[in-house]
Amino acid sequence: MPCSPVYEFHDINVENFADISKILNDSAHKWNLMIIPFAGGASSAVFSAFRKQLQAWKNQGFSLHLHGYRHRANLEFKRSLFGKIALCLTGGEAEFAGLDKKDSAELLGEALNAWQILQAGEPSGFVPPAWYGSKTLFSLCKEHGFENYGSRFFMWKNGNGAELSIPFSVAGLPFFLVHLVNFCEKIYLRLYRVFKFLPRPRIVLHPIETVATPAKY
Ligand SMILES: [Zn+2]
Repeated sequence: MPCSPVYEFHDINVENFADISKILNDSAHKWNLMIIPFAGGASSAVFSAFRKQLQAWKNQGFSLHLHGYRHRANLEFKRSLFGKIALCLTGGEAEFAGLDKKDSAELLGEALNAWQILQAGEPSGFVPPAWYGSKTLFSLCKEHGFENYGSRFFMWKNGNGAELSIPFSVAGLPFFLVHLVNFCEKIYLRLYRVFKFLPRPRIVLHPIETVATPAKY
């Protein structure tokens, strides 16, 4: 039975990888790294450095997961009402929310094409931006052969099935809730050390939070 939390570092891209590298070097944990493959208008020198960094992280034992395509919704896609609400709640980051099968497949294809250019080997798994995926997206990811898929409350692994998991993330929360979530995380980790049957905790960090609490991990 797993007995350690999962550490997830989200939203790593061509613009922030150098700063995140410094944080990971000082961390005692092996993080699952959620990589946004879209390189935008990065210069070839910066893009090349990003590629090298991804390879270096792999060599250091970090797992690289594909985290959407742009992490920013393409508003030309038609979306369900749920998808439109998800876009409002996430400031337009939930790019897979509410898409039909055809558009989900198209966007996943774009994400995979961008990933191939990174030359980082096969991604360890797929996690949709802001955890807004769908059953359709999950099926597509399985068809593509992903070994892992993450949603807000479940971690799926090929061969093991889905495992319930509690994420601790303060992304986008108002200041007073950040302290509350951090407090709950602390208490839950203590409980989990004793009661191993509890759902596995996921410690989730985003680049923006490392500015506020750089020494937390
Ligand atoms: Zn994200």
